[in-house]
Amino acid sequence: MHFSQPTAARQINRLRTLNLIAMHEDLSRADVARTLGLNKVSTSEIVDLLLAEGMIMETGTRATAAGRRPVSLELNKDAKMVLVLDIGTRNTSVALINLAGEMLRFERFPTARKPSPEQMAATIILQTQKFLSRMKDPALVSGMAISISGEVEPATGTILRQGDWEWESVPLAFALSKHLKFPLIVENNVKSMILGERWFADINAETTYFYVNWGEHIGAAYLAEGKILSHDCQFGHIPVARSGTCRCGAIGCLETLAAGWALVENFPQITSVKQLCTLAENDSSADSDLLHAAESMGLALVSASAILMPQRIIIGGGIAALPDRYFTALRETFQRAAPPVIRERTTIQRTSLGERAGILGTAAMALDEFVFKRTLLDQLKHQRV
Ligand SMILES: [Zn+2]
Repeated sequence: MHFSQPTAARQINRLRTLNLIAMHEDLSRADVARTLGLNKVSTSEIVDLLLAEGMIMETGTRATAAGRRPVSLELNKDAKMVLVLDIGTRNTSVALINLAGEMLRFERFPTARKPSPEQMAATIILQTQKFLSRMKDPALVSGMAISISGEVEPATGTILRQGDWEWESVPLAFALSKHLKFPLIVENNVKSMILGERWFADINAETTYFYVNWGEHIGAAYLAEGKILSHDCQFGHIPVARSGTCRCGAIGCLETLAAGWALVENFPQITSVKQLCTLAENDSSADSDLLHAAESMGLALVSASAILMPQRIIIGGGIAALPDRYFTALRETFQRAAPPVIRERTTIQRTSLGERAGILGTAAMALDEFVFKRTLLDQLKHQRV
């Protein structure tokens, strides 16, 4: 975002005020001024501007023993909305999200098996129009975010590579922009999941993280100082076995034992890992495959931790929701195999966002880009120091 010089400070303070009110309850104008270090006059100007925009509301004056209590400010959470699409190789989720990050509408459907770019673009346009047609006021939509498994160039919204679909250099955002009335961004799904973790859960800048997206494929990213330092590492292709041909062409990759595509391959009667978990309740070979998958994941995490030394490992993605006993097996394998220095330093947890990590991550990306600009404010804060 480019700020024109004379109004730059004002626009930044507008964003700081909006974010402060969004993240705290029951603030008065005086609280805003004190917290942001602004004077009363400019605080009032900014608050009045946000009120006029309809982005915030005042919630009444209350009399107290000491006299009149100042009016509290509150985010008007339905003032604007964002549309988000999380496109996985198995399922696609679409949601309409308000400013509080609440899902006003949610739909999920299977992704076409090997969609052409044209087919995918048509599906996205159709779904978007369907959502818009059900809204009372479609003009409230500020923008749309799409996250997709694949290598993405965010600046242009181009899918550089999507192996499963054999896509290369697909200008998805450009193709869609001709049909949509609002701005659009496209991002890699692991990156958006991490942003979701930061927005809706509790990632802090002082902790180092290794984030794993465990689903149809296994992706991962490393975060330090609140920044994603690498998101296209080939974590799913760490060798953990002596046999088993991986889709990447190598032998014995982690994916051959633990990725969704590999887990369902041995059981023709099922199509998802969720079904495999149900099957495993009465079928010992399904159960042992899942245990083996969890243990292999635990071992691969030891290898990743030996190099990166993260303080926390967060596991998200469709398979992260597997029953507790498999997750316990994963942790135990990690504890058993890790050198003491890693065992003591690194904790493993599942995403607190559950199965919605993907769609909430996309929501965070859209809210950040089109409304709150928290990533930008963070960057400015670091520049000033
Ligand atoms: Zn591989």
